[in-house]
Formats: sequence, C-alpha cells, structure tokens
Amino acid sequence: MKTQKKGLNTICTHVGEIEDTLFKGAVSPLFMSTSYAFEDVEIKRYPRYFNTPNQVALSQKIAALEHAEAAMIFGSGMAAISTALLSFLQAGDHVVLQQMLYGGTYHLITEQFEKFGIEYTFIDGSDPAAFADAIKPTTRVVYIETPSNPLLTITDIKAFAEIAREHGIVSMIDNTFASPVNQNPIDFGIDVVIHSATKYMGGHSDILAGAVACSAEHMERIFNLAKNLGGSLSDYTVWLLERSIKTMGIRVRAQNENAGKLAEWLSQHPDISHVYYPGLKDHPDHEIAKRQMHGFGGMMSFELREQIDASLFQKSLKLIKSSMSLAGVESTVLSPTQTSHALLTAEEREKQGIRDGLIRFSVGIEEVEDLKEDIEQAILAVRKKGVAAPSH
Ligand SMILES: *Cc1c(COP(=O)(O)O)cnc(C)c1O
Repeated sequence: MKTQKKGLNTICTHVGEIEDTLFKGAVSPLFMSTSYAFEDVEIKRYPRYFNTPNQVALSQKIAALEHAEAAMIFGSGMAAISTALLSFLQAGDHVVLQQMLYGGTYHLITEQFEKFGIEYTFIDGSDPAAFADAIKPTTRVVYIETPSNPLLTITDIKAFAEIAREHGIVSMIDNTFASPVNQNPIDFGIDVVIHSATKYMGGHSDILAGAVACSAEHMERIFNLAKNLGGSLSDYTVWLLERSIKTMGIRVRAQNENAGKLAEWLSQHPDISHVYYPGLKDHPDHEIAKRQMHGFGGMMSFELREQIDASLFQKSLKLIKSSMSLAGVESTVLSPTQTSHALLTAEEREKQGIRDGLIRFSVGIEEVEDLKEDIEQAILAVRKKGVAAPSH
C-alpha cells in the first residue's frame, strides 16, 4: 500500500498489514516460525535478523508514521537506544547528549561508555548553541529528548539538527514522550528517531518494545550491529504491537485533549503552585513546541503546594494509579523525588528543579471530569489529614 499521502489514522490502521490469502481474515496473520526455507537471497529469514513477515510489516507502518525510509523493531526501548548509539560510536569517539534524559539512557552512558572508550558530554538545558560549543573533532553523535522527563523541557529540533548537519555528525532523538502522532523529527532534519514502544505505541501497559526509524543508509549500519547484539522482539509481541498502533492516533489525540484541559485547570488550582506542560502559554518554550509538535502530548508535571504532602496525595487518589510507567490508556502519577530521582541528593534535585511536591502525570483517556474529581477529592483528603488514605 502506498503510504505517502495517507492520513495518520489510515497509516495506523492499514500500512504494512499482511493479507490473509488463505482465509481472508480481517487482520494480519501471525507467523511464529523461527525457521524458514532458504531463499535465493543473501540473508535468510530469521527473527534475530529482524526480517520475519510480521517484523517487516510492522516496520513499514512505523517508518510511514515517522516519515522515514526504514524502521526496525526492538525488544525494548533500551535495546533500540543502545543499538542505535553504538552503531555510530566506537573507541575514541565522542557523543554530546542532553542532560535531561530518560534515566535508563543516562545510566547506559555513565555506567557503560567508559569501558568502550567512548567519551561523552552532557549539556545542561536545551540551548542549541551549547550543543555546538560541546562538539569536538571526535564527536560522531548528538542526542536529545524532547519533551523531556519529568519537567517537559522543549529542545528546538530544527536548530539542533542543523548543527549536526553543519558538523557532518549523526543527530538522534528519543521521540517517546511525543509519539509519532505529535512529533515527526525527520521533517526537521533529524537523522535517527528512537521510541520506547512500551509507551504510546503499545499504549496499554502490557508490551515492552522499542523502535528506530531513519534513512535506509543509516539503518544498514544499525542493522549490522543489531543482528550481533540480538535485541529483537518476539513475533507474537510484534503482532500485538501492530494491533495497538491501530488505535494510537485516536488514543494519543484523546490524551492530548485531556492533558490540555487538565493543565489549564491545574494551573488555576489554589493548591497547585506550578504546572509544566508545553501546551500552556506560560511554558518558556511554548512557541517552539507549537512549531514542532502537532499536539502537546499526554505528559505533564505539576507541583503541589507545601501543605499538601505528595506521597499522601498519591495514596489518596482512587481512580488515578501510582505507577512507574507511562503512556497507557489509564492515567498514572509518580513522584520523581521518590522514584526516578531518589538517588540524587536533595541539593542535586533542587538544582535540576525537582521539588518534593512534584508529581509527574501521565494522562489517560478517561473522562476528564472524573480525573478532575479524583484529584480534587485527593487534595481534600490530604488537607483533612488524619483521614485514612485508601491504598491500591
Ligand atoms: C521508557 C522509556 C525508555 C526506555 O524504554 P524501555 O522500553 O523501558 O526499554 C526510553 N526513553 C523514554 C523517554 C522512556 O520513557
């Protein structure tokens, strides 16, 4: 099926589907074989070569969604990130990354890169000029994440990609928080787009997967390492992910809408001191977000005023769950101070702008009035301290 002129939901539903020629079923058949007859081709079909029928079909869908020539599906977001980075880096090379990164990516760099002889520099903030200043003759890759976790900072994708172009180095972005529904970085000149498909692509908190989308030339390099590292995904999960992506457009757009309404409402709330959401006019990078995003996403953070205890607040929520993961159809919250940033000292957290009252909110598809009511009753319950908080 030609992909070029199709709209988002049509791509989500149809691109890459495998025709069931045997029984004329409505959905792609699932091929679980790990063994295929030799064809007269260079590379045989094998799951770890990322070329089973279901892998190839879903890759076409993801490539179409990201306006890329090629895509590949991995066993996790971290498998996609580590494989993509290491495909373009070797001993003696240097990489420049944004400091505000997903924790797993930060740990991959700080715990593993030294032993591979790969040098790295983290950039505080998201100013493109700071990236340019950090580039050395040995720099091969620059890497960003926007919107970022947990403060939803925005990096100017076009300005960043241009700097990489000028220096002839590979630009990469973790596009997980936006999803392909809200942001297509290749349109702004980014080379390699990475997703934790565990999040919006899966969307139901029941699939662990990753994806990379880029040019055919860059993909050849990534594939050559990927087949050695072996981070492919089971075809059964590939098939489930195809099914999930069919509704990604309508899910994410519903999440955008809910998040927009909640961000406005929370920013008027007397017990909330600040809301971090790129869709709000007072977000410092709202104008950049407007230029590069189709929608502002379902992720936000907000700060409870001092008198509202964050952990008691979370325990008092009845509908919204406390959960580490994000981007499911169900709304979830977490406290960065108690989870992702727990190992930092209070001083380090303060420096990064992570306060004790900060709540990261992954907005789901529930009715927005029910979400407001849940937050309101939780705040009331905390105010009337002594009322036993229900536990999940
Ligand atoms: C979850 C996440 C990852 C890691 O993905 P896994 O599927 O858990 O390996 C990477 N980047 C971002 C922004 C994430 O939210």
